[in-house]
Amino acid sequence: MPHPKKQKTHSKTHMGRAHLALKKNTLNKCPKCGSAIKPHTACSECGFYKGREVEKKELKSTTKKTK
Ligand SMILES: [Zn+2]
Repeated sequence: MPHPKKQKTHSKTHMGRAHLALKKNTLNKCPKCGSAIKPHTACSECGFYKGREVEKKELKSTTKKTK
């Protein structure tokens, strides 16, 4: 079995873990209603994607359960 020859110092452990931070999710603004949306996703508020309606949404509707 492969095995480390020497024990890693605390410093080297921390130096490696400096690169393990999670990245924040990017959020775009919907050009139609201005709400925050995930990229490459239809807007959950108005149902528009790339300037056209891809999903019927009632205005000021309460949160509906998706199928
Ligand atoms: Zn929208």
